[in-house]
Amino acid sequence: MTQQWIEETLYDNWGQRFRVTKELARTKSPFQDIVVFESDSHGRVLMLDGVVQITERDEFVYQEMLTHVPLFTHGAARSVLIIGAGDGGVLRRVLEHPGVEKAVMVEIDGAVIELSKQHLPGIAGDAWNNPRAEVIVGDGIDYVARAADASFDVIIVDSTDPIGVGEVLFTDSFYQHCARILTADGLIVNQCGVPFMQADELYETSVRRAKFFPQVSAYVAAVPTYVGGFMTLGIASKGKSPAGQSIETVRTLAQQAGILGNTQYWTPEIHVGAFNLPPYIAKHLPKAE
Ligand code: SAM
Repeated sequence: MTQQWIEETLYDNWGQRFRVTKELARTKSPFQDIVVFESDSHGRVLMLDGVVQITERDEFVYQEMLTHVPLFTHGAARSVLIIGAGDGGVLRRVLEHPGVEKAVMVEIDGAVIELSKQHLPGIAGDAWNNPRAEVIVGDGIDYVARAADASFDVIIVDSTDPIGVGEVLFTDSFYQHCARILTADGLIVNQCGVPFMQADELYETSVRRAKFFPQVSAYVAAVPTYVGGFMTLGIASKGKSPAGQSIETVRTLAQQAGILGNTQYWTPEIHVGAFNLPPYIAKHLPKAE
């Protein structure tokens, strides 16, 4: 019997491949090539333009770290903006925070949302129908350019890499608007790639954010299918430094939110420890003035 494999095409000299048990969808939207397939190693997998976005098996690592770290760093977020994240996993985690009154998600590609609802229903759960959620199909840069000043406490950018349709989400103009629409102690987080392979991404986004945010930092998460070791999540704040919270403070907040003990990767200890960057990663952050 011939076996079908799908290979990731992120790098032209190194990669990973999955044995496919069933291809569930393959389409070309106006924005990107979308493939959803079933694998016997990682469950269902979403690929955009040949790059793995999410797998059922390890999505919890990325989604928990992208959501719980900024929300517990802020500590009292009521209004959250999510850009990208069409699979709905971040929306679901944001809505787990009872203090969040409004979560607006802006995803450019309606086909990613529809295919995720159809083939990856467990990732968002019932978040799509939550009355606190507003899901908008549109470009994140347009949304932030039009949003009112100080209208969000936290912005989570779960984008594709800074090529193609996601490129605008890594620009000065995007970060400038994000700073404007955040409240005084607001903060923004975005994925900055795997520094072992994509070192420039962390440096360049950090330099850009530093133009508009007084506090710029980063933390790490080990996502098995974002190959190359730790991935970095860049975090920038208009208020206090995101790094250096006490484990006790984070634990108390998580207990109050009913999230403590209900995660698979995030814990208060990992939250605080993740800001300790290995030197090979730290060297890609701009030096403080
Ligand atoms: N968590 C995964 C990762 O980091 O690889 C998946 C993220 S994936 C679902 C990112 C989403 O960002 C895609 O669905 C893509 O359509 C969306 N996106 C890219 N550029 C965008 C833009 N300018 N505005 C809104 N969404 C955008």
